[in-house]
Amino acid sequence: MDLRFSDEDEAFRLTVRAWLEEQLSGEYRVLRGVGGPGRDLELLDQRLAWERALGAAGWIGLGWPKDSFGRGATLFQQVIFHEEYARARAPGRAGHIGEYLLGPTLAAFGTDEQKRRFLPGIARGEEMWCQGYSEPNAGSDLANVQTRAELVGGQWRVTGQKIWTSHARIADHCFVVCRTDPASKRHAGLTYLLVPMRQDGITIRPIRQMTGTAEFCEVFFDGARAPEENVLGGVGNGWKVAMSTLAFERGASTLGQQIGFANELASIIAAARERGVDKDPLLRQRLAEAWMGLRIMRWNALRVLSHGDQGELPREALISKIYWATWHQRLGELAMDVLGSDAELVQDRLSMLQEMALFSRADTIYAGSNEIQKNIIATRALGLPRGGG
Ligand SMILES: Cc1cc2nc3c(=O)[nH]c(=O)nc-3n(C[C@H](O)[C@H](O)[C@H](O)COP(=O)(O)OP(=O)(O)OC[C@H]3O[C@@H](n4cnc5c(N)ncnc54)[C@H](O)[C@@H]3O)c2cc1C
Repeated sequence: MDLRFSDEDEAFRLTVRAWLEEQLSGEYRVLRGVGGPGRDLELLDQRLAWERALGAAGWIGLGWPKDSFGRGATLFQQVIFHEEYARARAPGRAGHIGEYLLGPTLAAFGTDEQKRRFLPGIARGEEMWCQGYSEPNAGSDLANVQTRAELVGGQWRVTGQKIWTSHARIADHCFVVCRTDPASKRHAGLTYLLVPMRQDGITIRPIRQMTGTAEFCEVFFDGARAPEENVLGGVGNGWKVAMSTLAFERGASTLGQQIGFANELASIIAAARERGVDKDPLLRQRLAEAWMGLRIMRWNALRVLSHGDQGELPREALISKIYWATWHQRLGELAMDVLGSDAELVQDRLSMLQEMALFSRADTIYAGSNEIQKNIIATRALGLPRGGG
């Protein structure tokens, strides 16, 4: 297996790098290092303009198929784009849910009309999306969804509550997993519905997090409407569609994030030097371990890539979510230990490392908690039977 990038890939890398460098030295200079997990509302207007700039330059939908308004880029090229993006410290993406979660799902399950209606708005960086899966009693146990939708006069009427909905306040639409057969239980009778967010019948309540910001929200649907044709993948087929979105969330879109992690590790090493704790034997061991973890993530990502860039990701990909989430959470703890007593002091606002440490507590929860990831590995990679009481 050849794990090197080809000449064509390296040329692609230079194109991406040059574009990012030019944009982030000019009009969008203020956006370097802005936004991202825990800081998703930072300089929001400028970041929404940045989304449109990315769209105009053709950088959104790189991995979508060409017949679905994408560029059909290879997995290698997608990873290169993520790597360069993080290396340039380009801003956290306001549009990532639309591009990386809904876009591929629409490409796989959407009718031609649905693709024409929704994909160009995402690709232009103009339409923002949020993900309406979790409910107060349906998180890991998503099949317990109680939000209901019924057809009334040729329109869906949605009633129920979602929670932890990231980006709900900036979203134009939400993909909602809801129950369309009131008699159904568990996975059956669920439907994946595309619901406009800006309407009466939807109330959004931000939830303040320990970082002080409030990117995710409770979303209450009280007879909210959606056009009849906004069902993705067929009425009653929502479980299959929802699981396929999760595979995208846990899969390719996380492969390039290690450069961002490397930037964080570099900041922690710089802080250790600055504070004179770089000779501390225990901290040095942990810094070395963190670096090793980064290398392992990189090699595993390349191993996944080497399986080819079409079709389903190989089983090595199953470990990437739990591995990076656990590693990143430990990195947050290490950052706080390097900062020592300063970790507890806040001047005007949290420092980047403080924010990272606090937000990393969420890494082992969202996109499938560590326990759920272990269950998936047990059944899919090891062939063990499903657990039970
Ligand atoms: C930062 C952040 C952003 C999020 N954004 C979104 C979003 O945009 N849209 C959305 O729909 N949701 C979102 N979520 C919600 C997220 O998907 C859920 O928090 C997650 O699925 C866990 O569900 P829960 O919080 O209800 O916890 P629960 O499912 O109640 O789990 C509680 C604990 O029990 C464990 N557990 C549960 N079931 C099992 C089992 N079968 N075996 C072993 N252990 C188990 C869990 O691992 C966990 O430790 C977000 C969450 C976070 C933290």
